[in-house]
Amino acid sequence: MPNRCPLTTATSRTTTRAPLWQKGPGHRGIDLALDSQSPIVAPFDGEVFFAGKVVNRQVITLVSDTGLKASFEPVCAIHPKGSRVLKGQNIAVLCVPESDYQMHCESCVHFSIRNQYGYLNPLLFYGMLKPAVLTS
Ligand SMILES: [Zn+2]
Repeated sequence: MPNRCPLTTATSRTTTRAPLWQKGPGHRGIDLALDSQSPIVAPFDGEVFFAGKVVNRQVITLVSDTGLKASFEPVCAIHPKGSRVLKGQNIAVLCVPESDYQMHCESCVHFSIRNQYGYLNPLLFYGMLKPAVLTS
């Protein structure tokens, strides 16, 4: 069953830039612009793995039945850790981070997906990632 886009009115602003090494600089996800009142919805059926503050912003992480983890920031979670959520269900809303948090873009949510090996480009799950083509 395909995943659902986590925002109903979103447009992608910034794409993934994979780091050259595991902890190297990069952008581990995409930034989705949205209206301030737009809810963030679960991209798949799963469980709230984490809901709370990380350093200077609120984060929610869902874990799917297959072990994928989807995280959003800065958002205020609607459901506490351990809650079962269904694909398309409202899970969070954009919320203001602390002043030292650097927003990735104006009025947007950072969205990342990872598995046991590391971060993946979320666009891969929505058929929006074009295959690499070698040219001469
Ligand atoms: Zn970002």
